[in-house]
Order: sequence, then structure tokens, then C-alpha cells
Amino acid sequence: MAAISDGTICCVCAEPLEWTAFGVCNHKDTCSKCVARWRFVLKDNTCMVCKTELSSVYITRCKCFANTNMSDPPRLIIA
Ligand SMILES: [Zn+2]
Ligand SMILES: [Zn+2]
Repeated sequence: MAAISDGTICCVCAEPLEWTAFGVCNHKDTCSKCVARWRFVLKDNTCMVCKTELSSVYITRCKCFANTNMSDPPRLIIA
């Protein structure tokens, strides 16, 4: 069982953190699904960790999974 603070699981849904979404505050503790739900369903554009307003977020493969495919670049999902 992985520790909660090691960045391998989402801090919101506790699923394995394979894909993460982050903005200018660079918090990568939430998965892309949670961030997308937060932004599109709840209409909240703030970071779930520090509440910074994020005008855009990027989705990227979490570093603990990145070894399997280093060619995945971060993707802009909303601007
Ligand atoms: Zn999540
Ligand atoms: Zn943040």
C-alpha cells in the first residue's frame, strides 16, 4: 500500500495517479478526471490543493508512470 503523500494516488479520489492535471501553481496531486470534473461539471477553475485560480491546466502522465512512455507531452485541455 502506497503512502498518500508519495504522489502515486489522487488526493481527491484515491485512484492511482497515472494522469495528472496541473496549472500555474504546479500542484500535481489530483488526477485528470477529478480536475476535469471540477472544472467542467462544478464550474470551478481553482486548484483543489491551494485554491489558486487556474486559467488553463495541462494534463500530463505522472512521473511515476512516465518511465513506460516518455514520449507523452503535456496537453493543454482548457485555456
Ligand atoms: Zn482523482
Ligand atoms: Zn495549487
